[in-house]
Amino acid sequence: MTPANDPQPASYRSHGGIGPASERLTYRRIYPLRMLGMGLGAVLLGSVLHDNQSPAWMWWLLGVTALVWPQLAYLLARHSADPYQAEVRNLLIDSAIAGMWVPLLHFNLLPCVVMALITTYDKFSTGIKRLWLHSLPGMAGMCLLMTLLLRPEPRLESSLLVVVCTLPLLIVHGLAVSTSSYRLIRTVAQQNRELESLRRTDAQTGLVARSHWQDQAKLSLERFHASGSPACLLMIDIDHFKSINDLHGHTVGDEVIHAVGQVILDCVRAHDHAGRYGGDEFAVVLSGTRAADALAIAERIRSRIAALHLRDQPDLHLTSSIGLAQAAPHQSGLREWINDADAALYRAKNAGRNQVADHEAQTSHAAPTAPVVQTH
Ligand code: GH3
Ligand code: MG
Repeated sequence: MTPANDPQPASYRSHGGIGPASERLTYRRIYPLRMLGMGLGAVLLGSVLHDNQSPAWMWWLLGVTALVWPQLAYLLARHSADPYQAEVRNLLIDSAIAGMWVPLLHFNLLPCVVMALITTYDKFSTGIKRLWLHSLPGMAGMCLLMTLLLRPEPRLESSLLVVVCTLPLLIVHGLAVSTSSYRLIRTVAQQNRELESLRRTDAQTGLVARSHWQDQAKLSLERFHASGSPACLLMIDIDHFKSINDLHGHTVGDEVIHAVGQVILDCVRAHDHAGRYGGDEFAVVLSGTRAADALAIAERIRSRIAALHLRDQPDLHLTSSIGLAQAAPHQSGLREWINDADAALYRAKNAGRNQVADHEAQTSHAAPTAPVVQTH
Protein backbone atom coordinates (compact mmCIF):
# COMPACT_ATOMS: atom_id res chain seq x y z
CA MET A 1 0.00 0.00 0.00
CA THR A 2 2.78 2.40 0.87
CA PRO A 3 5.78 2.98 -1.28
CA ALA A 4 9.06 3.45 0.54
CA ASN A 5 10.69 0.38 -0.92
CA ASP A 6 13.24 1.92 -3.23
CA PRO A 7 15.18 -0.93 -4.82
CA GLN A 8 18.22 1.18 -5.62
CA PRO A 9 18.49 4.48 -3.83
CA ALA A 10 20.53 7.00 -5.78
CA SER A 11 22.99 7.32 -2.95
CA TYR A 12 24.10 3.75 -3.67
CA ARG A 13 24.88 4.73 -7.20
CA SER A 14 26.38 8.14 -6.60
CA HIS A 15 28.65 7.21 -3.70
CA GLY A 16 28.91 3.50 -4.32
CA GLY A 17 27.72 3.02 -0.78
CA ILE A 18 24.75 2.84 1.50
CA GLY A 19 23.98 6.47 2.10
CA PRO A 20 22.23 7.83 5.15
CA ALA A 21 18.44 7.68 5.29
CA SER A 22 18.26 11.43 4.58
CA GLU A 23 19.84 10.77 1.17
CA ARG A 24 17.67 7.80 0.36
CA LEU A 25 14.41 9.28 1.56
CA THR A 26 13.88 12.05 -0.94
CA TYR A 27 10.40 12.98 -2.08
CA ARG A 28 11.44 12.70 -5.73
CA ARG A 29 12.39 9.07 -5.27
CA ILE A 30 9.41 8.22 -3.07
CA TYR A 31 6.82 9.85 -5.35
CA PRO A 32 6.69 7.22 -8.15
CA LEU A 33 6.85 4.42 -5.59
CA ARG A 34 3.97 5.93 -3.63
CA MET A 35 1.98 6.28 -6.85
CA LEU A 36 2.65 2.64 -7.70
CA GLY A 37 1.90 1.37 -4.18
CA MET A 38 -1.28 3.41 -3.84
CA GLY A 39 -2.36 2.44 -7.37
CA LEU A 40 -1.99 -1.30 -6.73
CA GLY A 41 -3.56 -0.81 -3.30
CA ALA A 42 -6.52 0.90 -4.96
CA VAL A 43 -7.10 -2.19 -7.13
CA LEU A 44 -7.29 -4.28 -3.97
CA LEU A 45 -9.47 -1.81 -2.05
CA GLY A 46 -11.73 -1.37 -5.09
CA SER A 47 -12.38 -5.11 -5.25
CA VAL A 48 -13.59 -5.11 -1.64
CA LEU A 49 -15.70 -1.97 -2.18
CA HIS A 50 -17.21 -3.70 -5.20
CA ASP A 51 -18.02 -6.86 -3.22
CA ASN A 52 -19.50 -4.82 -0.36
CA GLN A 53 -21.48 -2.61 -2.76
CA SER A 54 -20.05 0.30 -0.85
CA PRO A 55 -21.55 3.80 -1.08
CA ALA A 56 -20.23 6.36 -3.56
CA TRP A 57 -18.38 8.43 -0.95
CA MET A 58 -16.09 5.45 -0.28
CA TRP A 59 -15.19 5.32 -3.96
CA TRP A 60 -14.45 9.03 -3.80
CA LEU A 61 -12.29 8.41 -0.76
CA LEU A 62 -10.48 5.68 -2.68
CA GLY A 63 -9.80 8.15 -5.50
CA VAL A 64 -8.40 10.66 -3.02
CA THR A 65 -6.22 7.97 -1.42
CA ALA A 66 -4.81 6.66 -4.68
CA LEU A 67 -4.61 9.80 -6.81
CA VAL A 68 -4.68 12.91 -4.64
CA TRP A 69 -2.64 11.84 -1.61
CA PRO A 70 0.56 10.97 -3.56
CA GLN A 71 0.51 14.42 -5.23
CA LEU A 72 -0.20 16.15 -1.92
CA ALA A 73 2.58 14.20 -0.19
CA TYR A 74 4.99 15.24 -2.95
CA LEU A 75 4.03 18.92 -2.68
CA LEU A 76 4.16 18.90 1.13
CA ALA A 77 7.70 17.50 1.10
CA ARG A 78 8.85 19.66 -1.79
CA HIS A 79 7.74 22.91 -0.20
CA SER A 80 8.80 21.97 3.31
CA ALA A 81 11.77 23.66 4.96
CA ASP A 82 12.88 20.15 5.94
CA PRO A 83 11.90 17.79 3.08
CA TYR A 84 13.36 14.76 4.86
CA GLN A 85 11.22 15.25 7.99
CA ALA A 86 8.22 16.01 5.77
CA GLU A 87 8.74 12.70 3.93
CA VAL A 88 9.02 10.83 7.24
CA ARG A 89 5.69 12.43 8.22
CA ASN A 90 4.21 11.36 4.87
CA LEU A 91 5.26 7.78 5.55
CA LEU A 92 3.49 7.90 8.91
CA ILE A 93 0.40 9.29 7.19
CA ASP A 94 0.58 6.36 4.71
CA SER A 95 0.22 4.02 7.68
CA ALA A 96 -2.63 6.06 9.15
CA ILE A 97 -4.42 5.88 5.78
CA ALA A 98 -3.99 2.09 5.76
CA GLY A 99 -5.46 1.96 9.28
CA MET A 100 -8.38 4.15 8.19
CA TRP A 101 -9.28 1.69 5.44
CA VAL A 102 -9.50 -1.37 7.70
CA PRO A 103 -13.02 -0.59 9.06
CA LEU A 104 -14.07 0.75 5.64
CA LEU A 105 -13.30 -2.74 4.26
CA HIS A 106 -15.40 -4.29 7.04
CA PHE A 107 -12.21 -5.89 8.39
CA ASN A 108 -11.97 -8.16 5.33
CA LEU A 109 -9.10 -10.26 6.62
CA LEU A 110 -6.84 -10.82 3.62
CA PRO A 111 -6.68 -7.25 2.24
CA CYS A 112 -6.50 -5.70 5.72
CA VAL A 113 -3.60 -7.91 6.82
CA VAL A 114 -1.74 -7.47 3.50
CA MET A 115 -2.22 -3.71 3.62
CA ALA A 116 -1.10 -3.37 7.26
CA LEU A 117 1.92 -5.65 6.75
CA ILE A 118 3.16 -4.05 3.55
CA THR A 119 2.77 -0.56 5.01
CA THR A 120 4.79 -1.61 8.04
CA TYR A 121 7.48 -3.43 5.98
CA ASP A 122 7.96 -0.22 4.03
CA LYS A 123 8.89 1.55 7.25
CA PHE A 124 11.59 -1.08 7.87
CA SER A 125 12.98 -0.62 4.39
CA THR A 126 13.68 3.08 5.01
CA GLY A 127 16.35 2.01 7.51
CA ILE A 128 15.08 4.65 9.96
CA LYS A 129 15.31 3.32 13.47
CA ARG A 130 11.94 2.37 14.98
CA LEU A 131 9.96 4.18 12.26
CA TRP A 132 7.77 1.09 11.94
CA LEU A 133 7.01 1.30 15.65
CA HIS A 134 6.14 4.97 15.41
CA SER A 135 3.77 4.20 12.54
CA LEU A 136 1.66 1.79 14.57
CA PRO A 137 -0.18 4.29 16.85
CA GLY A 138 -1.36 6.28 13.79
CA MET A 139 -2.50 3.13 12.01
CA ALA A 140 -4.27 1.72 15.09
CA GLY A 141 -5.70 5.15 16.02
CA MET A 142 -7.27 5.73 12.61
CA CYS A 143 -8.61 2.18 12.60
CA LEU A 144 -10.22 2.73 16.02
CA LEU A 145 -11.59 6.16 15.11
CA MET A 146 -13.25 4.93 11.92
CA THR A 147 -14.58 1.87 13.73
CA LEU A 148 -16.20 4.10 16.38
CA LEU A 149 -17.59 6.47 13.74
CA LEU A 150 -18.96 3.86 11.30
CA ARG A 151 -19.41 0.78 13.51
CA PRO A 152 -19.01 -1.51 10.48
CA GLU A 153 -20.20 -5.07 10.62
CA PRO A 154 -17.16 -7.41 10.24
CA ARG A 155 -17.03 -9.39 6.99
CA LEU A 156 -13.84 -11.34 7.28
CA GLU A 157 -14.11 -13.60 4.24
CA SER A 158 -12.63 -12.63 0.86
CA SER A 159 -14.10 -13.44 -2.52
CA LEU A 160 -12.00 -14.85 -5.38
CA LEU A 161 -12.05 -11.36 -6.93
CA VAL A 162 -10.45 -9.90 -3.80
CA VAL A 163 -7.87 -12.69 -3.68
CA VAL A 164 -6.95 -12.09 -7.33
CA CYS A 165 -6.78 -8.31 -6.79
CA THR A 166 -4.42 -8.83 -3.85
CA LEU A 167 -1.90 -10.56 -6.08
CA PRO A 168 -0.48 -7.57 -8.04
CA LEU A 169 0.34 -5.72 -4.83
CA LEU A 170 1.90 -8.81 -3.27
CA ILE A 171 3.91 -9.69 -6.38
CA VAL A 172 5.20 -6.19 -7.12
CA HIS A 173 6.01 -5.48 -3.49
CA GLY A 174 7.73 -8.86 -3.09
CA LEU A 175 9.82 -8.25 -6.18
CA ALA A 176 10.76 -4.77 -5.04
CA VAL A 177 11.85 -6.03 -1.61
CA SER A 178 13.85 -8.91 -3.14
CA THR A 179 15.57 -6.63 -5.66
CA SER A 180 16.36 -4.14 -2.96
CA SER A 181 17.83 -6.83 -0.67
CA TYR A 182 19.83 -8.34 -3.52
CA ARG A 183 21.38 -4.99 -4.43
CA LEU A 184 22.00 -4.18 -0.81
CA ILE A 185 23.83 -7.45 -0.25
CA ARG A 186 25.93 -6.91 -3.40
CA THR A 187 26.76 -3.37 -2.32
CA VAL A 188 27.75 -4.45 1.17
CA ALA A 189 29.88 -7.32 -0.20
CA GLN A 190 31.64 -4.93 -2.61
CA GLN A 191 32.23 -2.40 0.17
CA ASN A 192 33.60 -5.12 2.42
CA ARG A 193 36.06 -6.08 -0.31
CA GLU A 194 37.11 -2.45 -0.70
CA LEU A 195 37.49 -2.04 3.07
CA GLU A 196 39.58 -5.20 3.26
CA SER A 197 41.80 -3.96 0.44
CA LEU A 198 42.18 -0.58 2.20
CA ARG A 199 43.01 -2.35 5.46
CA ARG A 200 45.74 -4.31 3.68
CA THR A 201 47.32 -1.37 1.88
CA ASP A 202 49.40 1.49 3.19
CA ALA A 203 47.86 4.48 1.42
CA GLN A 204 51.05 6.54 1.37
CA THR A 205 53.25 3.98 -0.37
CA GLY A 206 50.94 1.41 -1.91
CA LEU A 207 52.88 -1.26 0.00
CA VAL A 208 51.20 -3.78 2.24
CA ALA A 209 50.14 -2.31 5.58
CA ARG A 210 51.87 -3.52 8.72
CA SER A 211 49.17 -5.84 10.13
CA HIS A 212 48.71 -7.64 6.83
CA TRP A 213 52.46 -7.79 6.26
CA GLN A 214 52.83 -9.45 9.67
CA ASP A 215 50.29 -12.11 8.67
CA GLN A 216 52.26 -12.84 5.50
CA ALA A 217 55.61 -12.86 7.32
CA LYS A 218 54.24 -15.30 9.93
CA LEU A 219 53.15 -17.64 7.13
CA SER A 220 56.64 -17.53 5.58
CA LEU A 221 58.25 -18.38 8.91
CA GLU A 222 55.76 -21.20 9.50
CA ARG A 223 56.55 -22.56 6.03
CA PHE A 224 60.26 -22.48 6.90
CA HIS A 225 59.65 -24.41 10.13
CA ALA A 226 57.35 -26.88 8.38
CA SER A 227 59.28 -27.58 5.19
CA GLY A 228 62.62 -25.83 5.49
CA SER A 229 61.71 -23.49 2.65
CA PRO A 230 64.19 -20.59 3.08
CA ALA A 231 63.08 -17.00 3.58
CA CYS A 232 64.87 -13.77 4.44
CA LEU A 233 63.65 -10.69 6.22
CA LEU A 234 64.90 -7.21 5.37
CA MET A 235 64.29 -4.27 7.69
CA ILE A 236 64.95 -1.09 5.72
CA ASP A 237 65.21 2.29 7.40
CA ILE A 238 65.83 5.67 5.79
CA ASP A 239 68.90 7.34 7.28
CA HIS A 240 68.48 10.62 9.13
CA PHE A 241 64.92 10.89 7.94
CA LYS A 242 64.02 13.21 10.79
CA SER A 243 66.42 15.83 9.47
CA ILE A 244 64.80 15.56 6.00
CA ASN A 245 61.52 16.51 7.66
CA ASP A 246 63.22 19.26 9.64
CA LEU A 247 65.09 20.75 6.69
CA HIS A 248 62.69 20.22 3.80
CA GLY A 249 59.32 19.92 5.51
CA HIS A 250 56.94 17.03 6.10
CA THR A 251 55.51 17.15 2.57
CA VAL A 252 58.93 16.38 1.13
CA GLY A 253 59.32 13.75 3.87
CA ASP A 254 56.08 12.14 2.67
CA GLU A 255 57.33 12.21 -0.94
CA VAL A 256 60.56 10.52 0.16
CA ILE A 257 58.63 7.75 1.91
CA HIS A 258 56.52 7.25 -1.20
CA ALA A 259 59.57 7.19 -3.51
CA VAL A 260 61.44 4.73 -1.27
CA GLY A 261 58.35 2.51 -1.20
CA GLN A 262 58.32 2.48 -5.01
CA VAL A 263 62.02 1.58 -5.16
CA ILE A 264 61.44 -1.34 -2.79
CA LEU A 265 58.47 -2.52 -4.85
CA ASP A 266 60.58 -2.32 -8.02
CA CYS A 267 63.39 -4.36 -6.50
CA VAL A 268 61.41 -7.28 -5.13
CA ARG A 269 59.61 -10.07 -6.95
CA ALA A 270 55.87 -10.56 -7.18
CA HIS A 271 55.85 -13.33 -4.57
CA ASP A 272 57.86 -11.33 -2.02
CA HIS A 273 56.03 -9.35 0.65
CA ALA A 274 57.02 -5.70 0.91
CA GLY A 275 55.33 -3.73 3.66
CA ARG A 276 55.49 -0.40 5.43
CA TYR A 277 56.48 -1.27 8.96
CA GLY A 278 55.92 2.23 10.31
CA GLY A 279 57.33 5.76 9.94
CA ASP A 280 60.43 5.60 7.75
CA GLU A 281 60.88 1.86 8.24
CA PHE A 282 60.00 -0.83 5.69
CA ALA A 283 60.01 -4.60 5.95
CA VAL A 284 60.35 -7.16 3.18
CA VAL A 285 60.02 -10.94 3.33
CA LEU A 286 61.89 -12.59 0.49
CA SER A 287 60.27 -15.99 0.10
CA GLY A 288 62.28 -19.00 -1.08
CA THR A 289 65.46 -16.93 -0.86
CA ARG A 290 68.74 -17.69 0.91
CA ALA A 291 70.92 -15.06 2.58
CA ALA A 292 73.36 -14.69 -0.34
CA ASP A 293 70.60 -13.86 -2.82
CA ALA A 294 68.78 -11.72 -0.26
CA LEU A 295 72.00 -9.78 0.26
CA ALA A 296 72.13 -8.99 -3.46
CA ILE A 297 68.51 -7.80 -3.40
CA ALA A 298 69.13 -5.72 -0.28
CA GLU A 299 72.23 -4.20 -1.88
CA ARG A 300 70.17 -3.37 -4.99
CA ILE A 301 67.55 -1.64 -2.84
CA ARG A 302 70.21 0.28 -0.93
CA SER A 303 71.99 1.48 -4.07
CA ARG A 304 68.73 2.43 -5.81
CA ILE A 305 67.67 4.49 -2.78
CA ALA A 306 71.10 6.17 -2.74
CA ALA A 307 70.61 7.06 -6.42
CA LEU A 308 67.11 8.45 -5.88
CA HIS A 309 66.44 12.04 -6.87
CA LEU A 310 63.20 13.83 -6.20
CA ARG A 311 62.31 16.05 -9.14
CA ASP A 312 61.73 19.18 -7.04
CA GLN A 313 64.54 18.51 -4.58
CA PRO A 314 67.78 18.13 -6.56
CA ASP A 315 69.92 18.73 -3.47
CA LEU A 316 68.30 16.01 -1.44
CA HIS A 317 70.41 12.86 -1.17
CA LEU A 318 68.98 9.83 0.48
CA THR A 319 70.56 6.78 2.02
CA SER A 320 69.18 3.82 3.86
CA SER A 321 70.36 1.12 6.22
CA ILE A 322 69.19 -2.45 5.88
CA GLY A 323 69.20 -5.32 8.36
CA LEU A 324 68.93 -8.85 6.96
CA ALA A 325 67.95 -11.99 8.86
CA GLN A 326 67.43 -15.39 7.34
CA ALA A 327 64.68 -17.52 8.86
CA ALA A 328 66.35 -19.77 11.42
CA PRO A 329 65.28 -22.64 13.70
CA HIS A 330 65.70 -20.60 16.93
CA GLN A 331 63.06 -18.09 15.75
CA SER A 332 59.95 -19.57 17.28
CA GLY A 333 57.83 -16.59 16.21
CA LEU A 334 57.80 -13.51 14.02
CA ARG A 335 58.95 -11.43 16.95
CA GLU A 336 62.30 -13.29 17.12
CA TRP A 337 62.76 -13.02 13.36
CA ILE A 338 62.13 -9.27 13.44
CA ASN A 339 64.44 -8.92 16.45
CA ASP A 340 67.26 -10.55 14.48
CA ALA A 341 66.69 -8.26 11.48
CA ASP A 342 66.43 -5.25 13.81
CA ALA A 343 69.72 -6.18 15.48
CA ALA A 344 71.36 -6.30 12.04
CA LEU A 345 69.78 -2.95 11.15
CA TYR A 346 71.10 -1.47 14.36
CA ARG A 347 74.57 -2.68 13.42
CA ALA A 348 74.29 -1.16 9.95
CA LYS A 349 73.31 2.17 11.52
CA ASN A 350 76.16 2.03 14.04
CA ALA A 351 78.66 1.09 11.38
CA GLY A 352 78.00 4.38 9.57
CA ARG A 353 74.62 3.88 7.80
CA ASN A 354 74.08 3.50 4.03
CA GLN A 355 74.85 -0.20 4.25
CA VAL A 356 73.42 -3.68 4.57
CA ALA A 357 74.14 -5.85 7.62
CA ASP A 358 73.49 -9.57 7.74
CA HIS A 359 72.51 -10.95 11.15
CA GLU A 360 74.05 -14.38 10.48
CA ALA A 361 77.32 -13.12 9.06
CA GLN A 362 77.71 -10.54 11.82
CA THR A 363 79.23 -8.34 9.14
CA SER A 364 78.17 -5.18 7.43
CA HIS A 365 78.36 -4.52 3.73
CA ALA A 366 79.17 -0.87 3.49
CA ALA A 367 78.57 1.09 0.33
CA PRO A 368 81.74 1.06 -1.82
CA THR A 369 82.28 4.77 -1.59
CA ALA A 370 80.93 5.10 1.94
CA PRO A 371 79.23 8.40 1.07
CA VAL A 372 78.53 10.98 3.67
CA VAL A 373 74.80 11.29 4.22
CA GLN A 374 73.56 14.61 3.11
CA THR A 375 70.09 15.86 3.66
CA HIS A 376 70.46 19.35 2.40
P1 GH3 B 1 68.10 7.10 11.71
O1 GH3 B 1 69.11 7.36 10.67
O2 GH3 B 1 68.71 6.64 12.99
O3 GH3 B 1 67.02 6.17 11.24
O4 GH3 B 1 67.43 8.49 12.06
P2 GH3 B 1 66.00 8.97 11.63
O5 GH3 B 1 65.98 10.47 11.76
O6 GH3 B 1 65.60 8.44 10.30
O7 GH3 B 1 65.10 8.21 12.67
P3 GH3 B 1 63.93 8.62 13.57
O8 GH3 B 1 63.18 7.40 13.95
O9 GH3 B 1 64.44 9.46 14.72
O10 GH3 B 1 63.00 9.54 12.68
C1 GH3 B 1 61.94 9.06 11.98
C2 GH3 B 1 61.05 10.26 11.74
O11 GH3 B 1 60.10 9.97 10.74
C3 GH3 B 1 60.27 10.67 12.96
C4 GH3 B 1 58.88 10.94 12.44
O12 GH3 B 1 58.46 12.25 12.75
C5 GH3 B 1 59.02 10.84 10.95
N1 GH3 B 1 57.88 10.23 10.28
C6 GH3 B 1 57.26 9.07 10.60
N2 GH3 B 1 56.28 8.81 9.71
C7 GH3 B 1 56.28 9.84 8.81
C8 GH3 B 1 55.50 10.14 7.65
O13 GH3 B 1 54.58 9.39 7.25
N3 GH3 B 1 55.79 11.27 6.99
C9 GH3 B 1 56.77 12.11 7.39
N4 GH3 B 1 57.02 13.21 6.69
N5 GH3 B 1 57.51 11.87 8.47
C10 GH3 B 1 57.28 10.73 9.18
MG1 MG C 1 65.32 6.40 9.96
